[in-house]
Amino acid sequence: MTASTTTTAVAARADNVWKVYGTGEAQVLALRGVTAEFSAGRFTAIMGPSGSGKSTLMHCLAGLDYTDRGEVHIGDTKVTGLSDRGLTKLRRHKVGFIFQQFNLLPTLTAEENILLPLSIGKRKPDTTWFDQVIDTVDLRDRLKHRPSQLSGGQQQRVACARALVQRPDVVFADEPTGNLDSRSGTDVLKFLRASVDQFGQTIVMVTHDPVAASYADRVLFLADGQVVDEMFEPTADRVLDELKRFEEIVAAQSGGER
Ligand code: ADP
Ligand code: MG
Repeated sequence: MTASTTTTAVAARADNVWKVYGTGEAQVLALRGVTAEFSAGRFTAIMGPSGSGKSTLMHCLAGLDYTDRGEVHIGDTKVTGLSDRGLTKLRRHKVGFIFQQFNLLPTLTAEENILLPLSIGKRKPDTTWFDQVIDTVDLRDRLKHRPSQLSGGQQQRVACARALVQRPDVVFADEPTGNLDSRSGTDVLKFLRASVDQFGQTIVMVTHDPVAASYADRVLFLADGQVVDEMFEPTADRVLDELKRFEEIVAAQSGGER
């Protein structure tokens, strides 16, 4: 494969995706026709105000939630219309998740947590790959510890290793640094960046932090359930300026309605 085909491959795609929660008065249009592509081997950040649909978009892309209209693909797999069994298979084999709250099982050791997605699927780990991931997240001497014996940063690195160990097509991370102090957060972001640069991993990360977003190759901005802008090679300052610009637009609009 040549470099150009590698860079143009699409790991995940949303085509005109709509998502509605609730009915009648309580109805919320969480996504309103979102179209977006996520290139393979790239790190994309999704940003936007609280309630703009970031988590919903991620859940729809990953097959954790259904779309009401439009289509979602992970690689060549059409996620839209998959049966429950197909979705389970997709989640097990094609996608990895990192959540704000780590979501580790308290009774399992770090190593058992990391290998859980493989053991559920009755698959054996590739030991070379396992070692590489463990060394990259720097957890070699913590493998026999349980989550309660680990710091927040270490727990999130366990969650990162768990997401990567099955070599998913895409890793989805929803505010992965939201519960961490800035130093642990930096460790996690550096690891995510390294997994893209060294292993060609595809990452889609929701964040509200401009510094976290600056680790990505590209930032997609959502507002009110729609994609409103994107930025390549973001810096924290440029992202911050862009977010301020949105706030001014929103303020001007609500001022006009008064
Ligand atoms: P973000 O992650 O950007 O903060 P979300 O995707 O969580 O936003 O939410 C988008 C909108 O959809 C919000 O108005 C939210 O209240 C609503 N929403 C999200 N999940 C549900 C749900 N399960 N039921 C009802 N409304 C929801
Ligand atoms: Mg969210």
